[in-house]
Amino acid sequence: MILAYCDLERDKHLVPPGHPEDHKRLEALSRALARPEIAECLIDRDTIGDSWRKASLEDLELVHTSSYVTSLSKSSASTLRRLDPDTYISPESFETALYACGAGLSAIDLLESGLGTFGFVGMRPPGHHARPSQAMGFCLINNVAVAARYLAKKRRRVAIVDWDVHHGNGTQEIFWDDPFVLYVSVHQSPLYPFTGLAHETGSGQATGLTVNIPLPAQSTGQRVRQALEEIAQPQIEAFHPDWILVSSGFDAHRSDPLASMCLTSGDYFDMTRWVATLAPQSGRTIFFLEGGYDLHALQQSVEACLSALSEGSLRPEPPSSGGPGLVEITRCKEIWGL
Ligand SMILES: [Zn+2]
Repeated sequence: MILAYCDLERDKHLVPPGHPEDHKRLEALSRALARPEIAECLIDRDTIGDSWRKASLEDLELVHTSSYVTSLSKSSASTLRRLDPDTYISPESFETALYACGAGLSAIDLLESGLGTFGFVGMRPPGHHARPSQAMGFCLINNVAVAARYLAKKRRRVAIVDWDVHHGNGTQEIFWDDPFVLYVSVHQSPLYPFTGLAHETGSGQATGLTVNIPLPAQSTGQRVRQALEEIAQPQIEAFHPDWILVSSGFDAHRSDPLASMCLTSGDYFDMTRWVATLAPQSGRTIFFLEGGYDLHALQQSVEACLSALSEGSLRPEPPSSGGPGLVEITRCKEIWGL
């Protein structure tokens, strides 16, 4: 059974009209969760009760500077404000972000207590672009990074698999020299935020624990799966993680307005099956919603992902194959001696 979080009422993070990262994304997600063949695989809300907690300021400071956290908390008193060209904060954004981040931490605690086989945290704003002291790319708090550091503090080894179409620059920066966290990203390149080149591989005791697989525009699911299986998988297996956290953006879908990849919801089904096979044990894998801006594609991709986690067969679209990317995959394999 899947431990899933999606709370529409707690989402009070406002953005200007027309902004792609808005509340409608969570409504699409909740439609996916409500689909009968998905809903029957989710742990009942009554069983979880009020276990979903808000993150504390100390939790946020596991990866963010205290001055940044203070500045975000003070922003809550003002009106809608722009923090960078595409990132906004509204009066209740900080409170919303605390719940979004806390849901990941609650999922860890609940799974560790034996409740659930997988976790799926559907929240906004997303997180993987958020840097230690800077909001960017729609992200205020780096949710997956706070969760990973929360585990690393308990001496757990964590592999973060980031298949959002954009590179998770914030996550990479946070764990650049952390030997407890492996960061793997497959993303479209060149594309915002223009980081995540193949030769960026970590430093110090964490040299080799950042794995970037940049793929060209128009890449299909076949190439993404190939990159994950042939480059990411050997690194993840060698790392022997206790936990796998997935920065699960769905914006590599072919319908997404912010990128130019060619994936389908069927590909997300296969990618989810792949990551599930790497799980060190039951209840040690959590998916964190990152991007995904075409509402229909987001709904279908989440349905496919959750179906794959529950041994279902819901593939709203067939997987995609062919296309560019072989040259880039070969170049990456050379870097990793594969
Ligand atoms: Zn993205």
